[in-house]
Amino acid sequence: MSFHWRVTRIENLPRRVITSQEAAESCVICMTEFKIGEEVTVLPCDHKYHHGCISPWLASTPRCPFEHNRNNFRK
Ligand SMILES: [Zn+2]
Ligand SMILES: [Zn+2]
Repeated sequence: MSFHWRVTRIENLPRRVITSQEAAESCVICMTEFKIGEEVTVLPCDHKYHHGCISPWLASTPRCPFEHNRNNFRK
């Protein structure tokens, strides 16, 4: 599996509002659970993050934090 997409404009990523089914998921960057009605940014791999968390991350690391963490665990 490859997640080597390029993120040129973070602002262009789709944003969604968290539903009750998604409220149990959490943002991998700040480890905080999403709240219903909270706005999140969705990456091309369908992982969701707070916009305030993912924008500084993507500025320095152009890949999904979830994949990044999983690769670290595999070492
Ligand atoms: Zn977050
Ligand atoms: Zn991802």
